[in-house]
Amino acid sequence: MGNVLVFAEHQKGKIPKATFCAVTAGKELAKKSSGECYAAMLGSGVEELAKEVAGCGVSKVFLVDSPELEHHLADVYTTALAQIVRANGIDTVVGAATAAGKDLLPRLAARLDAALATDVIGINDDGTFSRPMYAGNVTATVELIGTPRVISVRTTAFDAAAKEGGGAVEKVSVDLTAGLKCMKFERFDETKSDRPALTEASVVVSGGRALKSAENFKNVLEPLVDDLGAAMGATRAAVDAGYVPNDLQVGQTGKVVAPQLYMAFGISGAIQHLAGMKDSKVIVAVNKDPEAPIFQVADYGLVGDLFKIIPELREELKKLRS
Ligand code: FAD
Repeated sequence: MGNVLVFAEHQKGKIPKATFCAVTAGKELAKKSSGECYAAMLGSGVEELAKEVAGCGVSKVFLVDSPELEHHLADVYTTALAQIVRANGIDTVVGAATAAGKDLLPRLAARLDAALATDVIGINDDGTFSRPMYAGNVTATVELIGTPRVISVRTTAFDAAAKEGGGAVEKVSVDLTAGLKCMKFERFDETKSDRPALTEASVVVSGGRALKSAENFKNVLEPLVDDLGAAMGATRAAVDAGYVPNDLQVGQTGKVVAPQLYMAFGISGAIQHLAGMKDSKVIVAVNKDPEAPIFQVADYGLVGDLFKIIPELREELKKLRS
């Protein structure tokens, strides 16, 4: 018997797809360990969101609704979650390996003196977990000793849980004093964009060092991104060169994406970049070097100069639309 608690992340009054992917992982783990799958929703004015998660086949959502939880502060959230875990006989805490999850879950593991596995991509029948190592070149099988234990799951490895009714929402009160002593919310500087979020978009158009400047990202790549209603991504080389902000980085040390369509322009295909996009359903690569490693993972490859090909592609798209 092993009960599971899924951390239900929310952003700007919405539940991101990542949370529903974590719910799928939580339900799978609970089923394999003959336990219940619960969720925890922390925030301020989030009861409706808690009901939404409860409708995804979890047994119950523990809701802590307090003005002090309005902003995601890892220490405050850790304080609340640790109490829910201890009070409800939780065996495993599951969260998505998002920025918030990466901030919170290691602290929670430390607070609970629990073993932690990050970026889990598989839940095995024998109670072990699979997770990538060395930029995805190796898949490790890990066993977490003792309980409670904490895992973060790679969202591209689990489908989003569908609505299927069910669970209740139970309001719980916790003592946040310890967490509030450590952290205070100052401000949140948000990158504003009308484009879809990189990790949620069905089409991602990425550029590499070959774009050569921030102006070329803006004037050459961005119009294609917008024609396709896509999210924009980039390599670390492009980020390090200052062409685009680092929240657009795809790869081992950036975001992991698996859209329906991933288009790579002027990207060599280093393993660290592939680690973040190789699970995309269809990969299109444009590179002037026919030997570029990106072609080994591409479904469609075009050898040529991106500065010539992108305008031609936009022209063809325009024709298709009219
Ligand atoms: P390059 O490797 O320089 O490739 C540029 C490509 O553009 C070449 O293939 C070239 O043929 C092509 N090209 C040039 N001009 C044109 C043109 N006009 N038209 C078409 N093609 C053209 N990288 C990531 O992306 N994400 C990560 O998360 C990441 N994490 C890392 C973590 C570690 C620990 C390390 C060591 C590295 C990491 N890297 C990461 C860096 C990675 O190793 C590569 O250096 C990087 O991905 C290369 O970026 P790039 O493809 O843009 O540049």
